[in-house]
Amino acid sequence: MDGLTPAEAALRDRARALAREAAAQAAATDRTEAYPWPMVRRMTEAGFLGMTIPRAHGGPGLSCFEAVLVIEEFAKACAVCGRIAVEANMGAIGAVMAYGTEAQKRLAAGLVLAGDKPAICITEPEAGSAATEMTTRAVRQGDVWVIDGVKHWITGGGVSRLHLIFARAFEAGEERGIAGFLAVRNGEGDPPGLVIHRRIPSMGLRGMPEAEIHLRGLEVPDAMVLRPPGGLARGFGRLMQAYNGQRVGAAAVALGIAAGAYETALARAGTRRQFGRAIGEFQGIGWMLADMSIQLEAARALVWRAARSAGPGDGVPGFPDRLAAAQAKVLAADTAIAVTNQALQIWGAEGYSRDNPLERHVRDARMFAIAGGTAQVLRTQVAEGILGRKLPQARETGPAQGHAQGP
Ligand code: FAD
Repeated sequence: MDGLTPAEAALRDRARALAREAAAQAAATDRTEAYPWPMVRRMTEAGFLGMTIPRAHGGPGLSCFEAVLVIEEFAKACAVCGRIAVEANMGAIGAVMAYGTEAQKRLAAGLVLAGDKPAICITEPEAGSAATEMTTRAVRQGDVWVIDGVKHWITGGGVSRLHLIFARAFEAGEERGIAGFLAVRNGEGDPPGLVIHRRIPSMGLRGMPEAEIHLRGLEVPDAMVLRPPGGLARGFGRLMQAYNGQRVGAAAVALGIAAGAYETALARAGTRRQFGRAIGEFQGIGWMLADMSIQLEAARALVWRAARSAGPGDGVPGFPDRLAAAQAKVLAADTAIAVTNQALQIWGAEGYSRDNPLERHVRDARMFAIAGGTAQVLRTQVAEGILGRKLPQARETGPAQGHAQGP
């Protein structure tokens, strides 16, 4: 039914087996809000970080689709672990492996294969969906770029080592475009200028720190500028293509959370008895479960289609199709919100208790319609794709590189 090859099914089963350990620690990770380092070590040993890194750089060279199979399994068990699997296989690492110099690729691959989940720094207090309105500046001084600005909602701030930082690049007093700069955080105060200012308390996914990062004269050598083909002027657009991978990964996490909640609700519907019958026998509950299963299958079909559009693994720096990625993310995010809420409803008061995982699933699911492109901004991307034209969002002619790209 699922159409997986034997190798894909074996990979998914291997992830499913380790995800049992992730499930066992998920409640504690939520309660303590601590990054799940022991689980990250287990995932690293099992080869689930850096799966998409080509063999030439020490990884197994798996495809985006194969990574998505793994991500869903971890997200079903522990959404934070699912997100770690996304960020260690898509996003920044995908951008570096596609566009980086040999030295940048070696650096990034080495960090991720050793257990690092890189951070992407795009969003600013005054530049959210309108990401190109960012004001962080990188000014070239000889062979070094000096970066100043504030980023917020940076996933992994404080635990990540590799940072892909986006800033407006100025050379000889002229703006060249928005570029990506690589910096490696080695610990508190190193490098000076990359300051984890504060952790932002979040509703769900609490084991994953979200941080406000202050860049105060951060010095990045020119050799650490990520230059996609077309140079700095076209850099942001190219780098955002890599973000389509991250978007599909996020959709897979949303799907996994929904699938986990659905399975819990299905089991409960068979065992909880009221009026002398299992509650699943009531049409009201049966139809809820039916709708949940339909939503899940539809979301999975779009997520898989988008992931497959990135092409095969090893060495091919393919990214998912922009339209397919946006469609998948919108449906998976909506599905996660709907299905987790329906699952909690099926559990009744027990679902509302913090003794059970349902309320955590509801909180965790809420993020996906916001981060990685909001539900509204992505619907505009879908409209652009099906209409075949740009739909400028700015009132006046916007900045040179476009509009509302939304991280
Ligand atoms: P705003 O852009 O202020 O939007 C507010 C509302 O207006 C939304 O409902 C939005 O849909 C709507 N809106 C805005 N523009 C339009 C439009 N043109 N058409 C229709 N509606 C519109 N950023 C990073 O750079 N790195 C990260 O690692 C990262 N991780 C995140 C993790 C979490 C948990 C969260 C919540 C956010 C994260 N973000 C990250 C930031 C995220 O990408 C932004 O929140 C997102 O781009 C939206 O920006 P905003 O929150 O400022 O909302």
